[in-house]
Amino acid sequence: MEYNGTVYRPPMEAETFLIPVTEGCTHNSCRFCNMYKDVDFRMLSLTSIEEFLRETKKHYGRFMDQLERVYLVGADPFALSADKLENIIHLIRKYCPKVHIITMYAAVRNITIKTDAELKRLAELGVNDIYVGIETGSTASLTYLNKGNTAKEAKEQCLRLNAAGIRHRDMMMPGAAGKGKLLQEAEESAKLENATKPDMVILTTMSIFPGTELEQEVKNGTFTVAPESEVLMAEKRFIELLDLPDTYLWAAHSLDSTRIAGLLREEKEAMLNRLQHSIDTMDDEKFRQTFRRDHL
Ligand code: SF4
Repeated sequence: MEYNGTVYRPPMEAETFLIPVTEGCTHNSCRFCNMYKDVDFRMLSLTSIEEFLRETKKHYGRFMDQLERVYLVGADPFALSADKLENIIHLIRKYCPKVHIITMYAAVRNITIKTDAELKRLAELGVNDIYVGIETGSTASLTYLNKGNTAKEAKEQCLRLNAAGIRHRDMMMPGAAGKGKLLQEAEESAKLENATKPDMVILTTMSIFPGTELEQEVKNGTFTVAPESEVLMAEKRFIELLDLPDTYLWAAHSLDSTRIAGLLREEKEAMLNRLQHSIDTMDDEKFRQTFRRDHL
């Protein structure tokens, strides 16, 4: 199979069978992102997806027979129509008969284009645990970063997922608002997450990646990266305000300076204490000079 571009997947899918389904991103214009700059969006043909499954089955038949969860590769395979996703799922079941969870990245706009009936059909087919790029609950930040949706739209679409029975894992980006604005942003983000009730909240701290518009904005002085102590205080405020006991919070990416993870019902206090310790001991200047945050 020919595949263009780098394969990105959520850290918690490290042991999941990855199935290439799309290349690139349908939006490809968030100011902070350089992941798919040189790749045009396309769906791989059903023939090449089947060829990939057939070849893998030839070598790892017993493994494929036991699989219960698979991950569809691409920035937003959920952009595909419900019919196309259904065809892909039927193919997967042909080669992996026990699969009952099909997960993938999704953008808010991908949900918008599906009807409630289509979302329900996808839920029945096993689409679940989808990773939604929410980033922030601040519409001002979303607009500035050119995310392509507002916080209100994110809330509405996540609620549609809930109603259809599709669990979602919300990807958030502490630091998105820039210096001096993070505490307010944390409050807006917590409000949004409390309303959408995700199964998991994943925090990946905002970074300035090479070749992005945001990197240029930092150079011109139109965007100022917040010091790490502000990022940590905002993260702490965000978690304090979360009223989601059954949600798992994960902030253990290599871009997160204080790595924490746990079910909020059980670990919230411990995670807040850990953040407070980092805040108390943070030397912003030393941190800036030593912590690399320029690639995923
Ligand atoms: S952040 Fe996601 S939606 Fe935005 S350009 Fe990158 S891959 Fe596409």
